[in-house]
Amino acid sequence: MARRTDTIAAAPETLARAEVQALTPYQSARRIVAAAGGRGDVWLNANESSEAAPYALTQNLLNRYPDAQPGEVIARYARYAEVEPEQILVTRGGDEGIDLLVRTFCVPGRDAVLQFPPTYGMYSVCAETSNVRVVNLTTDPADDWAPDVDALDEALERDPGIQVVFACSPNNPTGGLIAPELLERLIEATRGRAILVVDEAYIEFAPEASAKSRLASAPHLVLIRTLSKAFALAGIRCGFLIGSPAVIGMLKKVIAPYPVPTPVADIAEQALSLGGVAAMERRVAGTCKRRAELAQKLSALPGVLEVRPSSSNFLLVRFAEGARVFKALWDQGIIVRDQSRQPTLANAIRITVGTAEENAELIAALRGILGEA
Ligand SMILES: *Cc1c(COP(=O)(O)O)cnc(C)c1O
Repeated sequence: MARRTDTIAAAPETLARAEVQALTPYQSARRIVAAAGGRGDVWLNANESSEAAPYALTQNLLNRYPDAQPGEVIARYARYAEVEPEQILVTRGGDEGIDLLVRTFCVPGRDAVLQFPPTYGMYSVCAETSNVRVVNLTTDPADDWAPDVDALDEALERDPGIQVVFACSPNNPTGGLIAPELLERLIEATRGRAILVVDEAYIEFAPEASAKSRLASAPHLVLIRTLSKAFALAGIRCGFLIGSPAVIGMLKKVIAPYPVPTPVADIAEQALSLGGVAAMERRVAGTCKRRAELAQKLSALPGVLEVRPSSSNFLLVRFAEGARVFKALWDQGIIVRDQSRQPTLANAIRITVGTAEENAELIAALRGILGEA
C-alpha cells in the first residue's frame, strides 16, 4: 500500500499506532487538575503522603551511568520486605512495573490481562497501550468488592490468552484487603495458567496482609511495591517488583538499561535505612489515626451515605450528590478524586488522608456544602 504522503505530511501524528491514537491516557490527578485549570490549595486526590521527609544527595558525581540495578537499594529493600535480593527488581515507580509485566508476558493483538474493577486505572491503560485485551470481572460492593474466584476460573478456562491477572490489595480506590483464604484461592486458580500480580502499593498500611509469605510456594506470584505512598517519596519515582528469580529474570530483559537514576537510588537507600523505615512506620501510625478521625467526622455529615472501611491512606466516601460535592470542593481549591465513572461507584469520591489542618479544612468546607448535621 502506498504511503498517504499528503496526510502524513500535514499530520505526522497519524503515523502513530492505531491503539495509541484511540487511547485515553491515564487520568492522573495532576493531569485532571491542569486540564481543567483548577487552582488547588489542598491536594487530597493522589494518595500521596501529606508529610515530606527531608533528604540531601550524597552522591554528586553524575558523569557515569548508574548501576543497572542499584545493589544497596535492593539489599535494603530485601531486608525491609523480608525477601531475597534475587526476588527484587527496582522500577520507575510501581507504574513501570505494571507496564513491564504487560510487555513481558502479553503478545500484542492476541493476549489479555484480567482485572477486578473497580480498581487501579493503570492496568488497563498499560494493556491498551500495548494492544493487549482487558478482561473485566466487576466485583460486588455487597461482597466488599472481593474478587470472584469462580468467575476467574471460568475466564481462564474460556480464554487461554489471559496471561496476567491483576489483583490490588489494599485495593485502590475501595480501600479493602484481599482476605488470606481468598488470596490462597487466587494463587491456586492462576497456578500453571497465568502470572498473578498482587499490587501492594499501600501494604504498609496493613503489613500483616502482605502476600509475601506465599512467594516461596507460588513462582507465578508477583508483588508490586512502591516508595510513593507510605514512604512519602512519590516525587522520586521508585518502585519494586517482587517475584521468583525466574520471573524477575524475564522482566530484567525488558526493562530499560539504566532505569534508576543515581539521585533516586541515593534517596531510596536513605529511605530504606533502619531509621528511614522506622520514620515511615511512625508516619503510617499518624495517618491511620487521622484516617479514623476523618472517617468519623465524614460519617456524621448529612449527605454522606457511606464511608467505607479502609486499609490505606485514603477513604472512599459515597455521597447523596457526589458530582455536586466534588465540584463545590474544587471551586474552593480542595481537590479530591471523583470515582463515579468506575463500575459500582456512582456518587463515590476518594479522599486522601491529609494533615490535621487539611482534614479540618475539608470538613469545614463540606459542612458549608452539605449543612450541619
Ligand atoms: C500509587 C499506585 C501505584 C504506583 O504508583 P507509583 O507512584 O508509580 O509507584 C500502583 N498501584 C496502585 C494501586 C497505586 O495506587
